Amino acid sequence: MQHQLQQDQRPPLNSLLAPVVLLFAILVLRLLYLQVITSADYARESEENRIAQRRVKAPRGLIYDRDGRILARTRPFYTVSLERTTRKDFAAATAAFTEAIGDVELDGEYSRKYRTIRLKRDVNFRTVSIVEERLKADWPLLDIEIETQRHYPYGTAAAHLLGYIGIIRDQDLERKNDNAYVLGDFIGKTGIEKVYENSLRGRDGMLYVEIDAVGRTSREFPERDRLPVPGKPLHLTIDLEVQLAVERALPDSLAGALVALDPRTGAVLALANKPTFDPNIFVSFQAQKERRRVLQGETVLLNRALHGRYPPGSTLKMVSAIAALEMGVTDTLSLFEPCYGWLTVGRSKFRCHKREGHGGLTLPEAIETSCNVYFYHLARLISIETWHKYAAKLGFGQPTGILHPGEAAGLLPSRQYYEERGGWSFGHLLNLSIGQGAVLVTPIQMARYVAAIANGGYLVTPYISGDPPPRQRIDGISPKTLDIVGKAMLRVVASDTGTGRRARVAGVAIAAKTGTSQVPNRDDDAWMVAFAPYEDPAIVVAAVVEGGGSGGMRVGPVVREVVEAFCIQEGIIEPAVAEADTLLANHGMP
Ligand SMILES: [Zn+2]
Repeated sequence: MQHQLQQDQRPPLNSLLAPVVLLFAILVLRLLYLQVITSADYARESEENRIAQRRVKAPRGLIYDRDGRILARTRPFYTVSLERTTRKDFAAATAAFTEAIGDVELDGEYSRKYRTIRLKRDVNFRTVSIVEERLKADWPLLDIEIETQRHYPYGTAAAHLLGYIGIIRDQDLERKNDNAYVLGDFIGKTGIEKVYENSLRGRDGMLYVEIDAVGRTSREFPERDRLPVPGKPLHLTIDLEVQLAVERALPDSLAGALVALDPRTGAVLALANKPTFDPNIFVSFQAQKERRRVLQGETVLLNRALHGRYPPGSTLKMVSAIAALEMGVTDTLSLFEPCYGWLTVGRSKFRCHKREGHGGLTLPEAIETSCNVYFYHLARLISIETWHKYAAKLGFGQPTGILHPGEAAGLLPSRQYYEERGGWSFGHLLNLSIGQGAVLVTPIQMARYVAAIANGGYLVTPYISGDPPPRQRIDGISPKTLDIVGKAMLRVVASDTGTGRRARVAGVAIAAKTGTSQVPNRDDDAWMVAFAPYEDPAIVVAAVVEGGGSGGMRVGPVVREVVEAFCIQEGIIEPAVAEADTLLANHGMP
């Protein structure tokens, strides 16, 4: 085998000759090209003095939700443009134009670099008729161009996910030397508009017209024209009904985020952030002020669902429960020392949120009431390494892989992490076991983690378009363990002592976990994660409201509205039943 390889590596004589022949052939072809082909080009060059190219914008591809409802479309608008001419003629033409319309502010200025200069974009019909009827006779290089503009019919809905488009920056224009863009073109700046830019933008067309001495079009060349190729439509996994329910349910007064996934595939059903913005302002030529306000208020554009890093609080307790069940340190019946409201470990006192204590609890009861002391006991029986291993299996400390630039990885601290920062102590693990301490998560990571509990142990990759990425079976977490945890989460909502009872929807069994996490310099963050229907999970929700206080109180009603909207949409419950339930929830619950 070895010998054979060595022989093969020595090239025979005729294979050495081949490159020489090829080089020679290239030389001959090049000579032919210079003599024959380019002479035709030179002729074309002089022709260009008379023949103008008119770019025809390709309409941008539409974006649809999963039922074919349009989330982003294009709307035509008029632009007044001026063909390149001498600086003097340009000044005279623009002066005539600004005087005629009574507006001196122009969008484009003289440039030798570009053939067509867009003077004023998105003008009204009055301006169009002034140019066509009064100015064009004297200034034939003035032209009305029909451009298309992005329009988001639902305004702020899914704004961070869709992203926005804006005018291409000079440095990007220079970098992209494939002639696909010209000055003043729009390009996807964030979100889906950016990620799918290449397929959404299509290919601009080119029309050839002959211009006579005074600049009038004298001849057209339909046989040379290249028609624009429209951008490809993009179908998202988003469900508009669920998305709108999320936008309504999340409080406007506080920052927050919500992600809803299909736990079976990872399809993103809804993704929303507060505060939000209207992406239409980035394409409007009349919304400069509003645009500036949004760009300056940095956190408005922050996609918290993917980039926000939060302590998860008690919503992370299922990690400790799963680790403990898999390690065999507890089961559904074992009791630890009762909760008296705190646990003393070494010289420190670790508290439960219930001052008077929960008494003796089993694992399902501890999840239902979210007793901290029970989880401190669990932590004492597992190591930081074990906890870290199971948290990593459930997707923490790494981006989920949803197609989005710069998704945050969160922070999954290890023993080494603490050793490098002032030292490791056992108290760190006690805090981690209840989702406090250094651990940080993103809302989309939380949604994926709960999806794994709901789908029997598969780690999905959240996706927003196309086919679902392959899901991965989590090694070492049994369906039996997840069943115990899932059943306990059902009690969180169904039991009268459950912390998530405000998420109840009549006719649907919902499994959930609440969280109230301490954050420096603001009120506690409110969390809830949930999946439904319990028997055949089709939706997972992870939501956080910054400074929202109690997770059950603040986010419970949000989750209820979202699950309800989804179940109505899917025909799982009747709208009337849902309404009756809302009435009950508003008046009958404390
Ligand atoms: Zn307790």
